[in-house]
Amino acid sequence: MVTGRANVVVVGGGVIGLSVAWRTSAAGYDVCIVDSEPARGASWLAGGMLAPVTEAWPGEEDALRLGEASLRRWPQFAAALAAEGTDPGLSMEGTVVVALDRADADQIDVLAGYLRSLGREVRSLRGSELRRAEPGIGSVRSGLLVLGDLAVDNRKLLSALYEAATGRGVRFVRAEAGTVEPRRVQTPSGTIEGDVVVLAAGAWSGRLHPELADRVRPLKGEILRLRARRSSLAPPRHTVRAVVEGTPIYLVPRADGGLVLGATQYEAGFDRTVTARGVRLLLEGAERIFPSLAEYELLECAAGLRAASVDNLPYLGRLSDGVVAATGHHRNGLLLAPVTADTVLSVITGDRPPPEALPADPKRAKERV
Ligand SMILES: Cc1cc2nc3c(=O)[nH]c(=O)nc-3n(C[C@H](O)[C@H](O)[C@H](O)COP(=O)(O)OP(=O)(O)OC[C@H]3O[C@@H](n4cnc5c(N)ncnc54)[C@H](O)[C@@H]3O)c2cc1C
Repeated sequence: MVTGRANVVVVGGGVIGLSVAWRTSAAGYDVCIVDSEPARGASWLAGGMLAPVTEAWPGEEDALRLGEASLRRWPQFAAALAAEGTDPGLSMEGTVVVALDRADADQIDVLAGYLRSLGREVRSLRGSELRRAEPGIGSVRSGLLVLGDLAVDNRKLLSALYEAATGRGVRFVRAEAGTVEPRRVQTPSGTIEGDVVVLAAGAWSGRLHPELADRVRPLKGEILRLRARRSSLAPPRHTVRAVVEGTPIYLVPRADGGLVLGATQYEAGFDRTVTARGVRLLLEGAERIFPSLAEYELLECAAGLRAASVDNLPYLGRLSDGVVAATGHHRNGLLLAPVTADTVLSVITGDRPPPEALPADPKRAKERV
């Protein structure tokens, strides 16, 4: 039984599905989102870093270029969302990466050298300079200041996207989709047909289309939310990142005095249990970087599922007849939302996609690269 029809049927209403739906509806298409629980998923839990440079590593130049192409779009993307009614909470303060000991400092030097070789702007800071920039930082050896890496309040972003999409007439079908077929999506209550189906179901995408079956997998991450108390030091101004005894830790401040502390990363299938070990690793690591955190109120402990791809690039573009992929964003779905929305819109309209998105073409899934 056909229960619905739209030009564009988006499966998944996380940051990616909502961004795609908003942009395509603003371009004049009739759009619906199929999701039993939109504006949640990994997007609800994410830290909010928009950080292609501090996430960069030699050998991942395609990911860096794609991330930078999206970061360049972010100020305009945020302003356009704010103009639709809700400010998504973009912070322009930048990121500091800190090294606790000599081994970390060597790692950071490698990162800095690599970034400078690509012409990216990074400033090396001694421990004392770092503490001047961020007085709450503990005893650290050195660091890097990356002004270009930004942050967004992921929950405000989701509200802004939801409001903007709804305001543009996007309809929501509160249901779970079965396998995505050419130009149609099956749900328990019937079939929804579209000129095109956009697969944006994050970590669940591999279950919904055979081409992605062993290409997109869940990658668990635990993350905590805290808040400064009246008696404690205010959160850092910048996003602060470090690797503490092998665990990457980041602190992302929110405008209301909140602080997001992330994140563990390990393979656990679709399990979303928060483990005592994960919480301990995060809290111990964060206290080494920012000791006053011990006095903060602990508000939330949660675990989310990143959609990991085999090569750390997302799948953006035509996947099969009538199906466009917008998934596999791994650690960078918030960052990559603007360039993803532009890429999907270009596929739908038949325009040229952003050049930086070409390496993310899903045809490599078929080629089993
Ligand atoms: C702990 C953690 C920290 C992170 N920090 C950052 C960060 O700082 N910066 C950054 O850029 N990224 C970060 N990420 C990654 C980021 O959260 C993801 O890349 C991004 O949220 C992906 O968005 P999405 O819309 O593809 O997936 P999701 O937000 O997971 O949304 C997928 C949606 O699909 C729906 N769905 C699933 N199955 C079906 C089905 N069968 N039918 C219909 N709908 C379905 C779900 O209900 C969900 O709403 C982090 C991730 C985690 C887990």
